[in-house]
Amino acid sequence: MLVRSVLEGRELLKRNMNSNSQLQCIACQHEYSLDDQRLNCDCGGLLDVVHDLSIWSGRVAELKELFRARRNSDTPADRSGIWRFRELVLPELREDELLTRCEGNTRHYRFAKTSDWLGGFDVIFKHEGENPTGSFKDRGMTVAMSWAKRQKAKYVVCASTGNTAAAVASYASLADIPAIILISEGNTALGKVAQSLAYGALTVKIRGDFDTALKLVLESREQLGLTVLNSVNPFRLEGQKTIIWEALDFLNWEVPDWIVVPGGNLGNTSAFGKALMEAKEIGLISKVPRLAVIQAAGAAPFAQGFAAGWQHEIVTADTIATAIRIGNPVNWDKAVRSIKFTNGVVTSVTDQEIMDAKAIVDSDGVGAEPASCASAAGLKKLLTTGLIKPEERAVAILTGHLLKDPAATVGYHSGTLDKLESPLANQPVVIDPTLEALALALAKKS
Ligand SMILES: *Cc1c(COP(=O)(O)O)cnc(C)c1O
Ligand SMILES: [Zn+2]
Repeated sequence: MLVRSVLEGRELLKRNMNSNSQLQCIACQHEYSLDDQRLNCDCGGLLDVVHDLSIWSGRVAELKELFRARRNSDTPADRSGIWRFRELVLPELREDELLTRCEGNTRHYRFAKTSDWLGGFDVIFKHEGENPTGSFKDRGMTVAMSWAKRQKAKYVVCASTGNTAAAVASYASLADIPAIILISEGNTALGKVAQSLAYGALTVKIRGDFDTALKLVLESREQLGLTVLNSVNPFRLEGQKTIIWEALDFLNWEVPDWIVVPGGNLGNTSAFGKALMEAKEIGLISKVPRLAVIQAAGAAPFAQGFAAGWQHEIVTADTIATAIRIGNPVNWDKAVRSIKFTNGVVTSVTDQEIMDAKAIVDSDGVGAEPASCASAAGLKKLLTTGLIKPEERAVAILTGHLLKDPAATVGYHSGTLDKLESPLANQPVVIDPTLEALALALAKKS
């Protein structure tokens, strides 16, 4: 039965191989060929990869069954949580062109302690830290790197707060394309720097922040012949759409009330909106969940813009959540579109709220890096203000792995973080190697 439907799926794929996806400007709708290696329209607008979705109308049951059946297949393309949805990701690529590590397929957790802390609120955490390099960036990278390879890219490059760097370095190794990554000296978590070095990328630490690094990448790409793999590359966002579809598939396509996600460069915010627009257009869903985007208070231009009628804001960013330490988000216009389409909200939380939320989430035994826990902190805030109702259902995204940033975690529990308190610290204890001392430590803990 399953084998049959998977085979039918292959049939389906073949019939639709010659699809005609395009690049399309989100501002003026001008279309360009997919092969056009541009990041912006001539008018300056951001580009979408758009697909012909009309071939899927009326075939919702078929699509849902196909996506589900592939989970039990043995081929890499079917097993990937991205390429399982390939008809809606990038049908132009042949299966043998996919550079995949079975990314995605991340787990969905109900965390008891976190739920208690949220007053018994029913939330499912989708843990994107369970991707091959420890963040959701792999979902976008398998698509953008496969496309870069097809386009015969000479070098791939990114500016990064760390996780994009790790994903670029890893997938560039798979693609066998030289990678250059630009990170901010002093503001990149240790685990991420370690990955970039280990996977063999040319790792450039610049004296400046992420926004400065991205500006340099965009300015130098033409002269140096670089293929940019930041989320301004629209192929990245096609892969990141699958976070939404995977979660919906897990929920049997029963739409939650809210989807909560941290916002930095706003790639996910943009991709989530597009995923929902496409799902609605095809008929995979009939209702649209609301997006809640959570920024760090020290890096909250989008939250400020939301509060000020979408006035475009740029700030100098500062937060312990280095993955969202971004003052000039490149995907602003696409993210606004997502918030409008989903009747979404944008808010911000302080570093203290992020780190306290992280202590709670971590105590459930899986944990995540600081930026990821902005979603838990934001959920707490939106429940407190009453915008999210106790009886509603939410999916919250944990974007990166706990071990990405050990310094933040150990610093919190040791009470040594600059300008932050550690009310929920699990302090390490140092003892002499005696039975008495051990017994005393145990007595204090219980
Ligand atoms: C990249 C990243 C973010 C920010 O995501 P955007 O799509 O740029 O908004 C958040 N958390 C983690 C762990 C990240 O790596
Ligand atoms: Zn345009």
